[in-house]
Amino acid sequence: MASDSSCIFCKIIKGEIPSLKIIETPLSYSFFDIQPTARGHILIIPKYHGAKLHNLPDENLADILPIAKKIAIASGLDIDSPEGTGYNILQNNGRIAHQVVDHVHFHLIPKRDTKTGLV
Ligand code: 5GP
Ligand code: ZN
Repeated sequence: MASDSSCIFCKIIKGEIPSLKIIETPLSYSFFDIQPTARGHILIIPKYHGAKLHNLPDENLADILPIAKKIAIASGLDIDSPEGTGYNILQNNGRIAHQVVDHVHFHLIPKRDTKTGLV
């Protein structure tokens, strides 16, 4: 199914629910998480509606990681400070794996050194 009218992330893609957009491509959409676990917590989603990773066509998945890379660089997370600056990419599938929204999404969660405040 390409889109699901009852899905909140499909509604965000269509602009029916507001979001703070980062980057949109023909195949994906990225935006700030409404309940960030760290400053700059971003979600990257395929425009194709699929609940879990294995439901998605490969071409839709292939768009995601290059976007994650661009956002990580644009967020200054590629700076190798001695104290360590980095990020986690998380993607949950199923309730048992802590998935809440049934539209595939990748979390990009910054890990910043709060002592230096460099980034
Ligand atoms: P999950 O646990 O399914 O991997 O994560 C779902 C994520 O979607 C959560 O981090 C939650 O804060 C985020 N989220 C849920 N509803 C909305 C919304 O309406 N807008 C935005 N921007 N994020 C949402
Ligand atoms: Zn959806």
